[in-house]
Amino acid sequence: RLAAQLAEDTSAGATADGVPVGLLANIGTAADAERAAGTAVEGVGLFRTEVLFLERTTAPTREEQAAVYAEVLRSLGGRKVVVRTLDAGADKPLAFATQPDEENPALGVRGYRLVRTAPELLETQLAALADAQRETGIEPWVMAPMISTPDEARDFATSARAHGLTTVGVMVEVPAAALRAEAILAEVDFVSMGTNDLAQYVMASDRLRGELSDLISMWQPAVLDLVAATARAGQQAGKPAGVCGESAGDPVMAVVLVGLGVTSLSMSSGSVPAVRFAVSRHTQEQARAVAAAALGARSATDARAAAVAALAPEV
Ligand code: PEP
Ligand code: MG
Repeated sequence: RLAAQLAEDTSAGATADGVPVGLLANIGTAADAERAAGTAVEGVGLFRTEVLFLERTTAPTREEQAAVYAEVLRSLGGRKVVVRTLDAGADKPLAFATQPDEENPALGVRGYRLVRTAPELLETQLAALADAQRETGIEPWVMAPMISTPDEARDFATSARAHGLTTVGVMVEVPAAALRAEAILAEVDFVSMGTNDLAQYVMASDRLRGELSDLISMWQPAVLDLVAATARAGQQAGKPAGVCGESAGDPVMAVVLVGLGVTSLSMSSGSVPAVRFAVSRHTQEQARAVAAAALGARSATDARAAAVAALAPEV
Protein backbone atom coordinates (compact mmCIF):
# COMPACT_ATOMS: atom_id res chain seq x y z
CA ARG A 1 0.00 0.00 0.00
CA LEU A 2 2.86 2.30 0.82
CA ALA A 3 4.29 1.59 -2.65
CA ALA A 4 0.97 2.53 -4.26
CA GLN A 5 0.81 5.68 -2.16
CA LEU A 6 4.36 6.66 -3.14
CA ALA A 7 3.65 5.97 -6.81
CA GLU A 8 0.85 8.54 -6.71
CA ASP A 9 3.29 11.29 -5.82
CA THR A 10 4.16 12.86 -9.15
CA SER A 11 5.98 15.91 -7.81
CA ALA A 12 9.38 16.83 -9.20
CA GLY A 13 12.30 15.51 -7.18
CA ALA A 14 13.51 17.91 -4.49
CA THR A 15 14.94 17.96 -0.99
CA ALA A 16 12.74 19.00 1.94
CA ASP A 17 14.05 22.56 1.56
CA GLY A 18 13.31 22.67 -2.15
CA VAL A 19 16.68 21.97 -3.78
CA PRO A 20 15.76 20.30 -7.10
CA VAL A 21 17.06 16.77 -7.74
CA GLY A 22 16.37 15.42 -11.22
CA LEU A 23 14.76 11.97 -11.05
CA LEU A 24 15.23 10.20 -14.36
CA ALA A 25 14.85 6.76 -15.92
CA ASN A 26 17.45 4.40 -17.39
CA ILE A 27 16.17 2.86 -20.63
CA GLY A 28 17.45 0.57 -23.39
CA THR A 29 14.64 0.47 -25.96
CA ALA A 30 11.80 2.51 -27.44
CA ALA A 31 9.40 0.32 -25.42
CA ASP A 32 11.22 1.28 -22.21
CA ALA A 33 10.87 4.93 -23.24
CA GLU A 34 7.14 4.50 -23.64
CA ARG A 35 6.91 2.91 -20.18
CA ALA A 36 9.07 5.60 -18.59
CA ALA A 37 6.91 8.29 -20.20
CA GLY A 38 3.93 6.89 -18.30
CA THR A 39 5.66 7.54 -14.96
CA ALA A 40 6.47 10.71 -13.07
CA VAL A 41 10.07 11.09 -14.18
CA GLU A 42 11.69 14.27 -15.36
CA GLY A 43 12.94 12.33 -18.37
CA VAL A 44 15.56 9.78 -19.33
CA GLY A 45 18.99 10.06 -17.74
CA LEU A 46 20.55 7.14 -19.59
CA PHE A 47 19.45 5.69 -22.91
CA ARG A 48 21.74 2.69 -23.40
CA THR A 49 21.79 2.68 -27.21
CA GLU A 50 23.88 -0.48 -27.48
CA VAL A 51 20.66 -2.47 -27.06
CA LEU A 52 19.93 -1.46 -30.69
CA PHE A 53 23.22 -2.97 -31.81
CA LEU A 54 23.12 -6.24 -29.87
CA GLU A 55 22.42 -9.57 -31.55
CA ARG A 56 23.09 -8.21 -35.01
CA THR A 57 25.78 -9.10 -37.49
CA THR A 58 26.12 -5.56 -38.84
CA ALA A 59 25.54 -2.13 -37.32
CA PRO A 60 22.09 -0.59 -37.71
CA THR A 61 22.03 2.01 -40.50
CA ARG A 62 21.76 5.75 -39.94
CA GLU A 63 18.09 5.59 -41.00
CA GLU A 64 17.27 2.69 -38.68
CA GLN A 65 18.92 4.45 -35.77
CA ALA A 66 17.32 7.82 -36.51
CA ALA A 67 13.87 6.19 -36.50
CA VAL A 68 14.43 4.71 -33.03
CA TYR A 69 15.93 7.90 -31.60
CA ALA A 70 13.03 9.94 -32.98
CA GLU A 71 10.54 7.49 -31.47
CA VAL A 72 12.20 7.77 -28.06
CA LEU A 73 12.32 11.59 -28.21
CA ARG A 74 8.65 11.74 -29.21
CA SER A 75 7.64 9.29 -26.47
CA LEU A 76 9.13 11.58 -23.86
CA GLY A 77 7.36 14.55 -25.46
CA GLY A 78 10.10 17.09 -24.87
CA ARG A 79 11.21 15.85 -21.46
CA LYS A 80 14.98 15.59 -21.08
CA VAL A 81 16.52 12.56 -22.83
CA VAL A 82 20.22 11.78 -22.32
CA VAL A 83 21.37 9.50 -25.12
CA ARG A 84 24.57 7.58 -24.53
CA THR A 85 26.59 6.75 -27.62
CA LEU A 86 27.49 3.13 -28.21
CA ASP A 87 29.09 1.43 -25.20
CA ALA A 88 30.23 -1.83 -26.79
CA GLY A 89 32.95 -4.03 -25.37
CA ALA A 90 33.67 -5.74 -22.05
CA ASP A 91 30.30 -6.83 -20.61
CA LYS A 92 28.58 -5.67 -23.85
CA PRO A 93 30.39 -7.44 -26.73
CA LEU A 94 29.29 -6.85 -30.33
CA ALA A 95 29.96 -9.23 -33.22
CA PHE A 96 30.98 -6.50 -35.69
CA ALA A 97 32.75 -4.02 -33.45
CA THR A 98 34.60 -5.54 -30.54
CA GLN A 99 37.62 -7.81 -30.69
CA PRO A 100 36.90 -11.28 -29.33
CA ASP A 101 40.52 -11.93 -28.41
CA GLU A 102 41.20 -9.11 -25.96
CA GLU A 103 42.87 -10.43 -22.84
CA ASN A 104 41.34 -7.78 -20.59
CA PRO A 105 38.19 -6.62 -22.34
CA ALA A 106 37.17 -4.35 -19.45
CA LEU A 107 40.48 -2.54 -19.95
CA GLY A 108 40.37 -2.75 -23.72
CA VAL A 109 38.81 -1.03 -26.69
CA ARG A 110 35.36 -0.42 -25.27
CA GLY A 111 32.94 2.49 -25.13
CA TYR A 112 34.24 5.75 -26.62
CA ARG A 113 37.60 4.04 -27.31
CA LEU A 114 35.99 2.28 -30.31
CA VAL A 115 36.58 5.55 -32.16
CA ARG A 116 40.19 4.31 -32.54
CA THR A 117 39.23 1.13 -34.41
CA ALA A 118 35.80 1.83 -35.91
CA PRO A 119 35.29 5.63 -36.09
CA GLU A 120 32.42 5.26 -38.55
CA LEU A 121 30.22 3.80 -35.79
CA LEU A 122 30.29 7.03 -33.78
CA GLU A 123 29.97 9.23 -36.88
CA THR A 124 26.89 7.34 -38.08
CA GLN A 125 25.34 7.42 -34.63
CA LEU A 126 25.86 11.17 -34.19
CA ALA A 127 24.46 11.78 -37.69
CA ALA A 128 21.40 9.66 -36.82
CA LEU A 129 20.89 11.59 -33.59
CA ALA A 130 21.09 14.87 -35.50
CA ASP A 131 18.52 13.51 -37.99
CA ALA A 132 16.19 12.61 -35.12
CA GLN A 133 16.66 16.07 -33.64
CA ARG A 134 15.77 17.72 -36.96
CA GLU A 135 12.81 15.46 -37.51
CA THR A 136 11.25 15.90 -34.07
CA GLY A 137 12.39 19.40 -33.20
CA ILE A 138 13.47 17.97 -29.82
CA GLU A 139 17.10 18.32 -28.73
CA PRO A 140 18.58 15.27 -27.06
CA TRP A 141 21.43 15.51 -24.58
CA VAL A 142 24.28 13.33 -25.85
CA MET A 143 27.07 11.70 -23.86
CA ALA A 144 29.96 9.31 -24.43
CA PRO A 145 30.82 6.32 -22.21
CA MET A 146 34.26 5.33 -20.88
CA ILE A 147 35.96 8.69 -21.20
CA SER A 148 39.37 8.70 -19.49
CA THR A 149 40.94 12.06 -20.35
CA PRO A 150 40.01 15.70 -21.00
CA ASP A 151 41.30 15.28 -24.57
CA GLU A 152 38.83 12.46 -25.20
CA ALA A 153 36.05 14.65 -23.77
CA ARG A 154 37.09 17.52 -26.04
CA ASP A 155 37.27 15.29 -29.13
CA PHE A 156 33.84 13.81 -28.45
CA ALA A 157 32.31 17.23 -27.81
CA THR A 158 33.85 18.57 -31.02
CA SER A 159 32.37 15.70 -33.07
CA ALA A 160 28.93 15.96 -31.47
CA ARG A 161 28.75 19.74 -31.89
CA ALA A 162 29.88 19.45 -35.51
CA HIS A 163 26.70 17.44 -36.08
CA GLY A 164 24.60 20.21 -34.53
CA LEU A 165 24.05 18.47 -31.19
CA THR A 166 24.23 21.21 -28.58
CA THR A 167 24.12 19.67 -25.10
CA VAL A 168 27.12 17.39 -24.87
CA GLY A 169 28.46 15.49 -21.90
CA VAL A 170 30.51 12.50 -20.90
CA MET A 171 30.22 9.70 -18.44
CA VAL A 172 32.53 9.65 -15.47
CA GLU A 173 33.09 5.96 -14.82
CA VAL A 174 36.88 5.70 -15.10
CA PRO A 175 38.77 6.82 -11.97
CA ALA A 176 41.05 9.08 -14.03
CA ALA A 177 38.01 11.03 -15.23
CA ALA A 178 36.74 11.48 -11.68
CA LEU A 179 40.15 12.65 -10.48
CA ARG A 180 40.35 15.13 -13.35
CA ALA A 181 36.66 16.08 -13.42
CA GLU A 182 37.41 19.80 -13.38
CA ALA A 183 39.42 19.63 -16.61
CA ILE A 184 36.82 17.35 -18.19
CA LEU A 185 33.97 19.68 -17.23
CA ALA A 186 35.80 22.53 -18.96
CA GLU A 187 35.19 20.64 -22.24
CA VAL A 188 31.54 19.60 -21.87
CA ASP A 189 28.14 20.79 -20.64
CA PHE A 190 27.50 18.04 -18.08
CA VAL A 191 28.82 14.79 -16.65
CA SER A 192 27.01 11.64 -15.58
CA MET A 193 28.65 9.18 -13.22
CA GLY A 194 28.34 5.51 -14.06
CA THR A 195 28.73 3.96 -10.66
CA ASN A 196 28.67 0.36 -11.93
CA ASP A 197 31.90 0.81 -13.83
CA LEU A 198 33.35 3.41 -11.47
CA ALA A 199 33.14 0.88 -8.62
CA GLN A 200 34.57 -1.85 -10.87
CA TYR A 201 37.59 0.24 -11.83
CA VAL A 202 38.23 1.88 -8.46
CA MET A 203 38.15 -1.48 -6.71
CA ALA A 204 39.79 -3.46 -9.55
CA SER A 205 36.93 -5.94 -9.24
CA ASP A 206 35.02 -7.40 -12.19
CA ARG A 207 31.44 -6.12 -12.03
CA LEU A 208 30.15 -9.54 -13.10
CA ARG A 209 31.90 -11.55 -10.35
CA GLY A 210 29.43 -12.33 -7.62
CA GLU A 211 32.24 -13.41 -5.29
CA LEU A 212 33.57 -9.85 -5.31
CA SER A 213 30.28 -8.09 -4.62
CA ASP A 214 31.50 -6.74 -1.28
CA LEU A 215 34.54 -5.17 -2.96
CA ILE A 216 32.67 -3.77 -5.92
CA SER A 217 30.07 -2.13 -3.69
CA MET A 218 29.19 1.49 -4.32
CA TRP A 219 29.38 1.89 -0.55
CA GLN A 220 33.14 1.46 -0.59
CA PRO A 221 34.42 4.75 0.85
CA ALA A 222 37.01 4.98 -1.96
CA VAL A 223 34.21 4.94 -4.54
CA LEU A 224 32.23 7.55 -2.58
CA ASP A 225 35.36 9.74 -2.47
CA LEU A 226 35.50 9.85 -6.28
CA VAL A 227 31.79 10.59 -6.57
CA ALA A 228 32.27 13.41 -4.06
CA ALA A 229 35.20 14.83 -6.04
CA THR A 230 33.23 14.73 -9.28
CA ALA A 231 30.12 16.32 -7.76
CA ARG A 232 32.28 19.07 -6.23
CA ALA A 233 33.84 19.78 -9.63
CA GLY A 234 30.33 20.00 -11.11
CA GLN A 235 29.26 22.53 -8.49
CA GLN A 236 32.40 24.59 -9.02
CA ALA A 237 31.82 24.62 -12.78
CA GLY A 238 28.10 25.30 -12.33
CA LYS A 239 27.32 22.31 -14.56
CA PRO A 240 25.10 19.28 -13.91
CA ALA A 241 26.81 16.22 -12.40
CA GLY A 242 24.38 13.31 -12.20
CA VAL A 243 24.57 9.63 -11.39
CA CYS A 244 23.15 7.05 -13.80
CA GLY A 245 24.56 3.82 -12.33
CA GLU A 246 22.21 1.39 -10.62
CA SER A 247 23.21 2.72 -7.19
CA ALA A 248 21.00 5.79 -7.76
CA GLY A 249 17.95 3.55 -7.28
CA ASP A 250 18.83 2.70 -3.66
CA PRO A 251 16.96 5.28 -1.54
CA VAL A 252 19.69 5.38 1.12
CA MET A 253 22.42 5.84 -1.49
CA ALA A 254 20.26 8.45 -3.23
CA VAL A 255 20.28 10.60 -0.07
CA VAL A 256 24.06 10.18 0.20
CA LEU A 257 24.48 11.19 -3.45
CA VAL A 258 22.34 14.29 -2.98
CA GLY A 259 24.43 15.11 0.10
CA LEU A 260 27.58 14.82 -1.99
CA GLY A 261 26.18 17.41 -4.41
CA VAL A 262 24.93 15.16 -7.22
CA THR A 263 22.29 17.06 -9.21
CA SER A 264 20.28 14.22 -10.75
CA LEU A 265 19.67 10.51 -10.25
CA SER A 266 18.84 8.14 -13.10
CA MET A 267 17.58 4.65 -12.32
CA SER A 268 15.12 2.01 -13.44
CA SER A 269 11.79 3.81 -13.38
CA GLY A 270 10.35 1.43 -10.75
CA SER A 271 12.83 2.75 -8.19
CA VAL A 272 11.80 6.39 -8.60
CA PRO A 273 8.90 6.60 -6.08
CA ALA A 274 10.96 5.33 -3.11
CA VAL A 275 13.90 7.55 -4.08
CA ARG A 276 11.63 10.59 -4.46
CA PHE A 277 10.26 9.96 -0.97
CA ALA A 278 13.67 9.47 0.67
CA VAL A 279 15.13 12.60 -0.96
CA SER A 280 12.07 14.70 -0.05
CA ARG A 281 12.45 13.82 3.63
CA HIS A 282 15.88 15.47 3.97
CA THR A 283 17.02 19.03 3.68
CA GLN A 284 20.21 19.55 1.75
CA GLU A 285 22.00 20.06 5.07
CA GLN A 286 20.63 16.76 6.44
CA ALA A 287 21.60 14.95 3.24
CA ARG A 288 25.12 16.36 3.66
CA ALA A 289 25.24 14.92 7.17
CA VAL A 290 24.14 11.49 5.85
CA ALA A 291 26.87 11.68 3.19
CA ALA A 292 29.47 12.75 5.74
CA ALA A 293 28.53 9.77 7.93
CA ALA A 294 29.10 7.39 5.00
CA LEU A 295 32.37 9.06 3.96
CA GLY A 296 33.64 8.79 7.53
CA ALA A 297 33.35 5.00 7.57
CA ARG A 298 36.23 2.64 6.87
CA SER A 299 34.32 -0.15 5.09
CA ALA A 300 31.38 -0.53 2.74
CA THR A 301 29.27 -2.21 5.42
CA ASP A 302 30.02 0.50 7.96
CA ALA A 303 29.36 3.23 5.39
CA ARG A 304 25.86 1.97 4.67
CA ALA A 305 25.13 1.42 8.36
CA ALA A 306 26.35 4.92 9.21
CA ALA A 307 24.20 6.42 6.46
CA VAL A 308 21.13 4.49 7.60
CA ALA A 309 21.68 5.64 11.20
CA ALA A 310 21.88 9.26 10.03
CA LEU A 311 18.68 9.16 7.91
CA ALA A 312 15.56 11.06 8.89
CA PRO A 313 13.51 8.74 11.16
CA GLU A 314 10.58 8.12 8.81
CA VAL A 315 12.71 6.90 5.87
C1 PEP B 1 27.64 2.39 -15.26
O1 PEP B 1 28.73 1.94 -15.62
O2 PEP B 1 27.35 2.64 -14.07
C2 PEP B 1 26.59 2.69 -16.25
C3 PEP B 1 25.56 3.44 -15.97
O3 PEP B 1 26.71 2.15 -17.47
P1 PEP B 1 26.62 0.58 -17.80
O4 PEP B 1 26.06 -0.09 -16.59
O5 PEP B 1 25.74 0.51 -18.99
O6 PEP B 1 28.03 0.25 -18.08
MG1 MG C 1 29.35 1.83 -17.64
